[in-house]
Amino acid sequence: MTWFSEKLEALRSSGNLRQLPEMKHQGRYSVTGGRRMLNLSSNDYLGLATDPEMLLMRDFMQEAGRSCAGGVPEDCLLGSSSSRLLTGTFDVHSALEHTLCRLSGRQAALVFGSGYHMNAGILPAVVDASSVILSDKLVHASIIDGIRLSSARSVRFRHQDMGQLEELVKKYSMECSRIIIVTESIFSMDGDLADLRFLAGLKKRYPGVMLYVDEAHAVGVRGETGMGLAQELGVMQDIDFLCGTFGKAIASVGAYVLCDSEIREYLVNRMRPLIFSTALPPLNVLWTLRVMENLPAMDHRRERLAANSLYLRKSLASLGVVCPSGSHIIPVMAGDSRRAVEMADFMQRHGFYLLPIRPPTVPEGTARLRVSLTAAVTDREVAGLAAALEEVLHGHPAGK
Ligand code: PMP
Repeated sequence: MTWFSEKLEALRSSGNLRQLPEMKHQGRYSVTGGRRMLNLSSNDYLGLATDPEMLLMRDFMQEAGRSCAGGVPEDCLLGSSSSRLLTGTFDVHSALEHTLCRLSGRQAALVFGSGYHMNAGILPAVVDASSVILSDKLVHASIIDGIRLSSARSVRFRHQDMGQLEELVKKYSMECSRIIIVTESIFSMDGDLADLRFLAGLKKRYPGVMLYVDEAHAVGVRGETGMGLAQELGVMQDIDFLCGTFGKAIASVGAYVLCDSEIREYLVNRMRPLIFSTALPPLNVLWTLRVMENLPAMDHRRERLAANSLYLRKSLASLGVVCPSGSHIIPVMAGDSRRAVEMADFMQRHGFYLLPIRPPTVPEGTARLRVSLTAAVTDREVAGLAAALEEVLHGHPAGK
């Protein structure tokens, strides 16, 4: 047995072996093993990526096609050919950053290749050995990697435990010159909402505290113009590093931070994944820009998503299922990894493409199905989903 086969065998026998799924994409459906299923595992929350009627996409294609007629213009290039600091910054990158500032009312924005680059890069750049990072226990792996790469002390507080966090802030205010509190706004695996108003208040009470909030799962779906939960709660100006991604509801790829101009200038000089990685392709950035410009007018999609989410959360509550979610991400707990695999298999046989989420993505003993609703899911589909979940949980469908 090789070292690798031993490790793989251990993963297999504990139900934690992962494989890249082979599938075909047909709009809102995934086809795998000859089965066509409603895709409830993507992060296409507004249904933008898979909407065949999407006029925005058609307009964009026409715009790109028209402008390419006389040779490929700079904003239609498929590669940027260098990092942002060399020749990889095009007008369209600046236009996107300008639009992000306009939509948020913040001084500055900086765009990155992905959310992973963003989270792995900002924290190591902005702290030193006299800083402490206080992070929620359930923050995303990319944030954990950023913390590991940094020279700061790191303490993780119990998930959403604001009492413990305040105690830690008090303690470290004495010992460290800078404290950075890190959280997600909508948690990626539990779908619960961070108390951003409390955090904004905490920052006001303790000088030296900075806030870092990852809105990856809230951008597009929450807030008046779709800029996220901080916008909905009226605290956008209070968050020092307000981070978002384009790979989920925005139907594109990349990420951004909203911050003060001085912080942006510092990141341009010090953030390694920005400095040492090729910039996003201009054509892709142009698409992101078009989606962002249209985001404020997408209320109907946000409302549809909220209605679907409320329906499913209420259905689960009526079954006595305790669920922390306050959003469109709805976990259905299995506990054991093997049970999560069985539940996913059942749901897939019933036409719903759900995947088992297992450690290390979630803590040991909390394997689950993660239902990721979209605005494109119909009333009938969400009712069918609730009935199938009832069957997998209790062995009989809703109403019987
Ligand atoms: N932050 C959070 C909270 C995420 O869930 C993810 C991706 N799942 C990322 C960051 C990484 O973003 P990207 O996919 O753009 O690398």
